[in-house]
Amino acid sequence: MLYISTRDNHPAVQSSEAITLGMAGDGGLFVPREMPGLANPLTIDSNYQETARRVLAPFLSDFSAAELGSAIDNAYNAETFNAPGIVELVPLDPHRSVLELWHGPTAAFKDVALQIMPQFMQIAKDKTNNKTHTVILVATSGDTGKAALEGFRDKPGISIVVFYPAGGVSEIQKLQMVTTGGGNTHVVAVEGNFDDCQSGVKAIFSDPALARELGVHNMALSSANSINWGRLCPQIVYYVRAYGLAVQRNLVKAGAPVDFCVPTGNFGNILAGYYARRMGLPIRRLICASNRNRILADFFASGVYDCNREFYRTSSPSMDILISSNLERFLFEMSGRDGKRIQGWFSELSKSGRYAIDPQTLASMKEFIAAGWAGEERVPGVIRAEFERSGYVFDTHTAVAAAALDDLGDRKVHTIIDSTASPYKFSGDVLPALTGEHPDNEWLSIERLHAAGKIPIHRAVLGLRERPVRHTRQCAVANMSGVLMEICAKISHHPGAKALGH
Ligand SMILES: *Cc1c(COP(=O)(O)O)cnc(C)c1O
Repeated sequence: MLYISTRDNHPAVQSSEAITLGMAGDGGLFVPREMPGLANPLTIDSNYQETARRVLAPFLSDFSAAELGSAIDNAYNAETFNAPGIVELVPLDPHRSVLELWHGPTAAFKDVALQIMPQFMQIAKDKTNNKTHTVILVATSGDTGKAALEGFRDKPGISIVVFYPAGGVSEIQKLQMVTTGGGNTHVVAVEGNFDDCQSGVKAIFSDPALARELGVHNMALSSANSINWGRLCPQIVYYVRAYGLAVQRNLVKAGAPVDFCVPTGNFGNILAGYYARRMGLPIRRLICASNRNRILADFFASGVYDCNREFYRTSSPSMDILISSNLERFLFEMSGRDGKRIQGWFSELSKSGRYAIDPQTLASMKEFIAAGWAGEERVPGVIRAEFERSGYVFDTHTAVAAAALDDLGDRKVHTIIDSTASPYKFSGDVLPALTGEHPDNEWLSIERLHAAGKIPIHRAVLGLRERPVRHTRQCAVANMSGVLMEICAKISHHPGAKALGH
């Protein structure tokens, strides 16, 4: 399988190169040149790992079966995931079920991709005979940071630097990141919001002088954000697996269509659902759910993507995003793979913060995506109502999706709601919704949630309070590249660094 750029600005490359590069040159994201079909879309595999092999093999055709197999086994096992099935499908009623994607080490769905992506990257580096020290740069709205830190921790030949918005993540998210161990992990608080972090990281990636300087030290930057294909393709797997589980549980007849409802931020998760649909999985509609930062819902309604608006901090911080990077991949497909038009829209976006797509592209998008949003005032009510109805406890992100489903669902087909975080990760908001209690710290909230919700405490938050803080760096948005260079200088002077490249 070869990969091409959404902006027509890069020669086609193998998957291993797309994964080591992360981004295609000056803007542009790698996408598969053709979309493979699922050999038999209705096969029900005996376990998640088998589905992973079946779905991933055609995308990573330059990986041997043994390489892919070892990546899958290292990523998805009883030590990394606290659920025998890796992901779990929980029916709520005959019309709706929840796909729990948060049984990994950090309690958010990003673990599913970030446990395997570092394995891909190591294999890809070996394949491309890449002896440089890879510095993974991550901008995080909260969950990616910790999941990437855990995935890349102590991987030889790789260091990881995470930028998060100071004050823009939950207390638990912050503690998870700043207490991370490992000799190759670096965490920096940025005085700005997530979009500032993401734009800062993008600017670093497109700074040729910085790349040259790192090159002198035998270092190169790469990304673990969902702009990296190696991060995106593992997410297709759980759509295929969820469908198989739904059939197995008699929620859906084999071959009958389903809807997926996806709490959306950077558009990575829902894009994987789109790819699964393109591969032949019987998905009728994808419901794209936004929180109060409803730029995507407005875009689907009007065809105008407009960042010139207020940015809100919400109780679903991992969806507090104004620039959804992976939308570019989706628009590339919806525009008939017109790289020139994509380039036009996205240069318009960087100039004026806004672009308008043509009516035909908009119509193609709306054929199978329904977009909705839920404001902050609805989230607690949805959490409480579901708990009273079925006993199930949503986290705040999943609750936003459930609210959008209440608005847009038509009950003609079974809907699978992607649940992206354990409620324990956001207990400070989930508990008041359930019981009306407002303890003054997260730890008490966790204990009280355990008592009220009667679900086991996720191991990602157990013991977090006792762990020492190891990362205290903070910087202004304008100084992100400066801080990065400081960190890289330390890495290159580290006694072990010489060995890294050889
Ligand atoms: C990252 C994240 C999302 C948004 O997913 P995208 O792929 O960025 O759309 C939603 N919920 C949670 C809990 C997340 O961590």
